[in-house]
Amino acid sequence: MRVLILGAGPAGLTAARTLRELAPLKSLDPAITVVSAEPFPPYSPPAMADHFLTGREETLYWQGKDVCDRLRLDPVSGEPVEAVYPEQRQVLLQNGRYLDYDRLIIATGSRLYAPLEGCELPGVYNFKSLSAARELVGKVREGEVKNTLVVGAGFIGVEVAVLLKALGCSVTIIDKQWVMPNILDEETAELVRQDLERRGIVVHEHTEALRFSGRKRVRGVRLVNGDALLADACIAATGVKPNVSFLEGSGLDIDWGIRVDHRMRTNLPNIWAAGDVAETFDRISGDQYVHAIWPNATAQGEVVGRDVLGFEAGYAGAEQMNSMKHLGMPIMAVGESKGEVTLRRRDATTLRKIFLDDGRIVGFRLAGDIRGAGTYRALMLKGTDVSRFGEDLLDPRFRISRCVSPEVLYH
Ligand SMILES: Cc1cc2nc3c(=O)[nH]c(=O)nc-3n(C[C@H](O)[C@H](O)[C@H](O)COP(=O)(O)OP(=O)(O)OC[C@H]3O[C@@H](n4cnc5c(N)ncnc54)[C@H](O)[C@@H]3O)c2cc1C
Repeated sequence: MRVLILGAGPAGLTAARTLRELAPLKSLDPAITVVSAEPFPPYSPPAMADHFLTGREETLYWQGKDVCDRLRLDPVSGEPVEAVYPEQRQVLLQNGRYLDYDRLIIATGSRLYAPLEGCELPGVYNFKSLSAARELVGKVREGEVKNTLVVGAGFIGVEVAVLLKALGCSVTIIDKQWVMPNILDEETAELVRQDLERRGIVVHEHTEALRFSGRKRVRGVRLVNGDALLADACIAATGVKPNVSFLEGSGLDIDWGIRVDHRMRTNLPNIWAAGDVAETFDRISGDQYVHAIWPNATAQGEVVGRDVLGFEAGYAGAEQMNSMKHLGMPIMAVGESKGEVTLRRRDATTLRKIFLDDGRIVGFRLAGDIRGAGTYRALMLKGTDVSRFGEDLLDPRFRISRCVSPEVLYH
């Protein structure tokens, strides 16, 4: 069996590892080829900032630089795929070479989504891939980039802002809402904003960019309110979009991402999709959309690996789950950031908020002290009615074992 995996990110690599580890149980020994658009060993995007600050490679190349040798993968690196021909079971690489497959796994991740005029101007950078991040950090180290403006304060924008400040740049970050609006409610976001400001980063919330300005090179951004912000480099961190353009005309069912079922199968035979490129369903709400975070990518990659081999495989659904590692305080954001009822506790150094619908936890935000996160998540996933615990839930020492009988949780 020839398995062709497009993409060497966490989704593709987890699929490859699962295949290699489980295949012997089915007396199989598939030939696995992993194609990647970038000329690097498989890397972890969340580890890039740390890598540029410390030079560490262990977390960046999270499975080891020699992972392809260890797993007997045939890597095709730095070769973007240009087209997929399902009828012929072939893909075409940009260099004109064709690769055949029996099973195809599409794990091409996502790219920057910057629907702003001027984003192609020289001096507009992004931090979405290792190639893009290297280019930006290289310019900083050469002294060409000093005064920076980060457009978009999602988790990638905040991460790059913190990195640029640590590398000695002056940094302004703007967002049309508040800091990390897709992850944090405004009150928790306020703590992140304060953390950024303590580092000397200028934060403008409720500030919407209209376009990048400049003729031959970016000079800054023009805002919707008519004002201008000047910078010698801008970093677009306005969102991500699945890498699906090369699939045009393939017959795959694509909305924002590639639509898949509970086994990560696409609408076409012998083709699966996983990670940021796939449109899956939310474990709590059931809504179908792209859940572009690491744990979802690896969980989906594993489901694909199992299903390709014919093992029992079912995806439990994506989760919204983020822990912020690069700030001065631990923050955990899981599930929805609002509910019919909000339980809230705040003191000088911590903030705890639990959101409930119909007596069930639909999300929580913990800042400063993330104890209890595992318990809340378990109760949330199980859909346990927690209304009788009231404010006791907010106690960081709240434990399932003490307060909830196993029957409540598991039946
Ligand atoms: C700076 C940054 C910080 C992040 N921090 C966090 C975090 O703290 N927590 C979290 O949960 N998530 C985080 N994420 C998101 C997380 O990294 C992604 O959700 C995850 O990497 C998705 O994995 P993937 O395998 O689907 O895609 P990717 O990791 O994007 O990998 C895609 C692969 O496909 C290849 N590819 C793309 N197009 C083609 C093509 N045409 N042909 C061939 N190959 C192609 C690429 O070269 C790459 O190998 C962060 C992302 C970034 C950029």
